[in-house]
Amino acid sequence: MLKRLLGKASPILGHRSDWLGLCQLCRQPCDEQALLCHWCLQTLHQPLCRCRLCAAPLPEHIKAEEQICGRCQRRPPPWQRLQVIGDYLPPYPTLIPRLKYAGQILLAPPLAHMLADHLDLAQPPEVILPVPLHWWRQWRRGFNQAEELASTLGKITAIPCDNRLIQRTKATPQQTSLSAGQRRRNLRGAFQIAPHAYRHVALLDDVVTTGATAGRLTRLLHESGVERVEVWALCRTLRHIKPG
Ligand SMILES: [Zn+2]
Ligand SMILES: [Zn+2]
Repeated sequence: MLKRLLGKASPILGHRSDWLGLCQLCRQPCDEQALLCHWCLQTLHQPLCRCRLCAAPLPEHIKAEEQICGRCQRRPPPWQRLQVIGDYLPPYPTLIPRLKYAGQILLAPPLAHMLADHLDLAQPPEVILPVPLHWWRQWRRGFNQAEELASTLGKITAIPCDNRLIQRTKATPQQTSLSAGQRRRNLRGAFQIAPHAYRHVALLDDVVTTGATAGRLTRLLHESGVERVEVWALCRTLRHIKPG
């Protein structure tokens, strides 16, 4: 239903030739390569000081090495870093569902560029691991939005992507309507990690909501020998991420 509604509301952008020269947000004529006009690109930026573990906004004056919020100091999440552009606030609730559910994969490169601009890569990971979809969902959708983002991000950062390391072995119901506890139960046995020798990886997803998927994968990656897991996403939701 959502797919149909979004599909009607906005033309499918699967190829460059589908682009009508209008900004994908405000529909004003624009000649920007990024498919979004200069003004709308500005609205995507959220330059804020953020907690290194949950990306909650913090006061500006905090030093980089002390950027851990009170909640994460008490109950740190399983991963070693969460990096996002910002909170899931407009215009992201317009753009990200179009990328995921309306097949507008041409939106992936500008969003990946925006994420790259916000990443701290002082200690870059060895590999980018997009969170996989189950093959059935990927087949129905025709693509995995996390792989599309990873592909552009890999080119910008020169960090390789590995789309095969994590396999989704169980088709789980859509997580959007589930509570954090239900999401965690839902994910048991959902993933497998292939043998590897990575020590520092970046898991990439479009949005980190409760952190259930990222938390589950982080634990599996740690069990498989990874020492440092970063989670990268376009946005986080405003709820605090519960350690799981
Ligand atoms: Zn615009
Ligand atoms: Zn935090």
